[in-house]
Amino acid sequence: MRTLTTETANKVGEEVIVQGWVNARRNMGKIVFLDVRDRKGILQVVGVPSELDEASNELLKDIRPEWVVEIRGIVNARGAKQQNPNMPTGMVEVLAKGIAVMAKAEPLPLDLEDEKIGLDIHLDFLPITLRAEKYRAVFKIQAEIVRGFRDYLISQDFTEIQAPKIVAASAEGGADVFEVKYLKNKATLAQSPQFYKQIMVGVFERVFAVGNCFRAEQHATTRHLNEFTGLDLEMGMIKDHHDVMNLEMDMLRHILNHLDATCASELKLWNYTRPSVPEKVPYFKLREAQQIIKDETGVDHTNEPDLEPSEERFMGEYAKTKFDSDFIFITHYPTSKRPMYTYPDEENPEFTKSFDLLFRGIEITSGGQRFHDYNELVESMKRKELNPDDFKFYLEAFKYGMPPEGGLGLGLERLTARLLEIDNVKYATLFPRDMNRIDLQISPPEYKQ
Ligand code: ATP
Ligand code: MG
Repeated sequence: MRTLTTETANKVGEEVIVQGWVNARRNMGKIVFLDVRDRKGILQVVGVPSELDEASNELLKDIRPEWVVEIRGIVNARGAKQQNPNMPTGMVEVLAKGIAVMAKAEPLPLDLEDEKIGLDIHLDFLPITLRAEKYRAVFKIQAEIVRGFRDYLISQDFTEIQAPKIVAASAEGGADVFEVKYLKNKATLAQSPQFYKQIMVGVFERVFAVGNCFRAEQHATTRHLNEFTGLDLEMGMIKDHHDVMNLEMDMLRHILNHLDATCASELKLWNYTRPSVPEKVPYFKLREAQQIIKDETGVDHTNEPDLEPSEERFMGEYAKTKFDSDFIFITHYPTSKRPMYTYPDEENPEFTKSFDLLFRGIEITSGGQRFHDYNELVESMKRKELNPDDFKFYLEAFKYGMPPEGGLGLGLERLTARLLEIDNVKYATLFPRDMNRIDLQISPPEYKQ
């Protein structure tokens, strides 16, 4: 029966069979050390010629990284000098008694531990670079972020929904939509599940969705992808946007705890520092933030409709130094710049009850309160020069009873990147798509960089 690498730690003296990929090979004279990697971890295997039969010795000569092997051997305690308390298997090793090869591997085109290979090579060889401990860790952490998101929301009575990705109109507005031909009517790929999650508030009151969002971004940047994973939620019976903001911080606190509990060794590989989240995460209106920026830097952008990336970074640092917070909310973006469903501030309808959440200086979330009153929503569409007839289907949800509601959209890859302080979001995206790249094999030659 197979023993998993991490299970060997408490099987000293026993014979075991382990299966896995050769993570590394080291020769010490006639002795060969193999680090064998399976789904749980990495284990040191020692190959001593006198302990092995002839066939195994022959195989051992050729075994290289990424060969898949089956090792039969005895678990031994490591010598004092060899111990590594940072690894779950760091106190043991397996002395091989028999070796079988389950799959051979070509010589690797690059060294998986090489940190200097650059983004393009990294992406060209993703099927193997993702096997490197550090990058494998990114996506293990990402998977646990999604699990934490799900678990928390389910514990708060949210129901998970699957929103369609082929949609009729664009919810967010703007030019960054992908058109879909084929269908009789003009269709696009969904930029978000916005309309569907709102419709589903009428059904379940609280819903969430984890799904791909498509944006035909006009620029290549270190934080934009053409396809990203949206962590979306929408909830009814709110008082205002602060209910959504508070829920988001509770959800993020849960995710951070969940990561500590499930990804300690993966986080260590990235020298992770747990973000600080004070009990009261600071929030400023856009105009207040711009005033702070003006007072502190002299740059007057107090009439601009949004913060520039450098201003987001500035507010991120401001939150850190003034409030010891890695998070800061910016609220009250102008009505003219937010989508038609955004709820205006009753006291000053030129601004909205919307928010962005900045994490370590970069926007990771947009959210807010939405219109729930049918007539007000229709009026808002008209003010944005949209034809309510085009939104008849969506409007049915509001015509037939919708409570005050709000929600948010959080970018999974951006959250992962900020958490691990990875500069380019593409390193935190499993198979990134951008203007220049849809994997190596299927990108037309003229698009290759
Ligand atoms: P930005 O202003 O940074 O381009 P946005 O305001 O257009 O983003 P939203 O529509 O508010 O984005 O989407 C909600 C969240 O989804 C963002 O806060 C971000 O985390 C993520 N997101 C949006 N667009 C992208 C993208 N092109 N690539 C990766 N993540 C994205
Ligand atoms: Mg936004």
